[in-house]
Amino acid sequence: MSGSRRGFFRDLAAAVASAKDAVEPEPEPEVVVHDLTEPEIERYSRQLVLPEWGSAAQVALGEASVLVIGAGALGAPVALYLAGAGVGRIGIVDDDDVELSNLHRQLLHYTPDLGVAKAESAAAKLRFLNPDVVVEPYQMRVDAENAPALVEGQDLVVDCSDSFATRYAVNAACCAARVKLVEAGVLGMAGMVMSIKPGRSACYRCAFPVAPRDAPRCADAGVLGPAAGVVGSLQAMEAMKLLTGVAPAIADGFLQVDLAGAEFLRVKVSRRADCPDCSGV
Ligand SMILES: [Zn+2]
Repeated sequence: MSGSRRGFFRDLAAAVASAKDAVEPEPEPEVVVHDLTEPEIERYSRQLVLPEWGSAAQVALGEASVLVIGAGALGAPVALYLAGAGVGRIGIVDDDDVELSNLHRQLLHYTPDLGVAKAESAAAKLRFLNPDVVVEPYQMRVDAENAPALVEGQDLVVDCSDSFATRYAVNAACCAARVKLVEAGVLGMAGMVMSIKPGRSACYRCAFPVAPRDAPRCADAGVLGPAAGVVGSLQAMEAMKLLTGVAPAIADGFLQVDLAGAEFLRVKVSRRADCPDCSGV
C-alpha cells in the first residue's frame, strides 16, 4: 500500500467523520484497507465512504462470481450496477438477438446493436463500463438440463428471465447447489423481487408452488421501461446485500412492487416441508 493510496482513503474517511462531527463529535473510524489498488479506491470511492460498505465489502464483491440469466429489461440494470460496483466475474446468459422492440427498456442495447446477440452486446457495454470485471457471455437458453452446470461454482445467481419454466429450473438448480439466488418478475407497471438462501430461507417454489395458468407475456401485456428499471435495480441491490452482508436481504418472502399506485408491499413466505426444490437442502 503506497502512501498516496493510504492518504486518499484517509481523506474519504475524514469526509465521513467530519459529516458526523457536524451532529456530534465521534472518534475517527478505524479504516481497514485490504487489497485495493489506487484506481479501485477512486472508482469505488462513493461506495467505500458508506459506513456500511467499506473496503471489506468491496473486496468481497471483487472476489465474487455472479451469473445473470437474461440480458433484457431486468438483466440490463442488474448487470450494469453489478459491473459498475466491481463484481469480479459476471456471466451473462441469453439466447436472443437484439430487436427494435427491446430498446425502450433494455438499456444495455442500442440501435446499432440490432441483430447482435444480446449476450455479446451486453458484454461489450459492461467491459466499457468497467474493464476490471471479467465478463463471460453465454449465448444459450437456460433449461432444467443445463441449469445445474451453469449454476455450479457461482457465488450468486440473479434470474432476470421472463418465463416461469426458466425460473423453476434456476430455482431448483440453485437449491441443489446451495447457491444464493435473486428472483424477480415484471409486467406492465408491477413486479416482484425475492432473495433466496437455499437451506435457510423459503425458495421461489415455496412462494409459488405452481405457475399461474395462462400467465400473460411481456409481448402481449406490455411493460413500461422504468418499471423494469425499478425491479431490476432492486434485484441488483439484493445481489449486493447477499454478496457482502451489508444489509438484510428480502428473504422468507418477497417484495411486491406496484408502480402505478407507487406502493411497495412485503409478503411473508415460509419454507414448505414438502417443497420439491428445497426441502432436502
Ligand atoms: Zn422451497
